[in-house]
Amino acid sequence: MLDSLYNKSVVCPVCQNKIEVTKVKSKDCVVASRDSDFCVYYESVNPLFYEVWVCEHCGYAALQERFENISPIEAKIVKENISKYWKPRSFCGERDVDKAIEAFKLALYNLCKISPKPIEYAKVCLRIAWLYRMKKDEQQEIKFLNHALRYYRETYENEPFPVGKLDEHTCVYMIGELSRRVGNYDDAIFWFNKIISSPGARENKALIDSTREQYHLAKEAKEAKEKA
Ligand SMILES: [Zn+2]
Repeated sequence: MLDSLYNKSVVCPVCQNKIEVTKVKSKDCVVASRDSDFCVYYESVNPLFYEVWVCEHCGYAALQERFENISPIEAKIVKENISKYWKPRSFCGERDVDKAIEAFKLALYNLCKISPKPIEYAKVCLRIAWLYRMKKDEQQEIKFLNHALRYYRETYENEPFPVGKLDEHTCVYMIGELSRRVGNYDDAIFWFNKIISSPGARENKALIDSTREQYHLAKEAKEAKEKA
C-alpha cells in the first residue's frame, strides 16, 4: 500500500462486523488546484477516492462523514435490500479512479434505498461527476452533474438553510455553476444574478468574486452559442 495511506478499524453500523477502511494521511493531502465547482486536485493521492467507506460483509456504503450516522430503520432497509444480494468484496487499500467510482455508485445505490434528503444525493452525484472528469469521460460527467443539479435545486426549494454546512448562497452558486457546466446558460445567468443582487451574499467576498467570473463565462458561452 502507498505510504500516504493507512487503515483504520471501524464497526459497521449495519451488520456490526469489524471492518478496515483506508484513509489518506492528512499531511499528504496537498492541494494542487481547484475547479469552479469546488472539485479539488491534489499533488499526489486524492482523498476523494477514499471518501466512501464500504462494508465488505454487508454492502453498506456511505460517505465517511455519514457512515456511522445511520438510523436503525435505515440499517434495516440496507439489510433487506442490499445485504441479502451482496457478494462479499473488499474496497480496502489503494483505489484507482474506477474503484473509487464503483464505491461511490454503491453509496448512491444505498442512498436510493434509504431515500434521505436531496443534499445527500447531490453530494454523491457531484463527486461521481468529478471522478468522471478526472477520467476525461465528459458524457458521464455531464450526466452526473445533471443529477447533482436536480438535487441542489430540490434542496434549495425544500430545505431550510443552512443544510448541514451548506449555506443558501453557496447552494445558489452551485445551481448556477452546474447549470453553466451542463450548457443551460440562461439558467446559469438567472441563478448567478440572484447572488449578485442579494445584499446578504456580499459578506462572502470569495463567493461573489467567483460568481462574477462564472457569470461572464456563462454570458460569453450563451453569445457564442447564439452566433453558432
Ligand atoms: Zn456491514
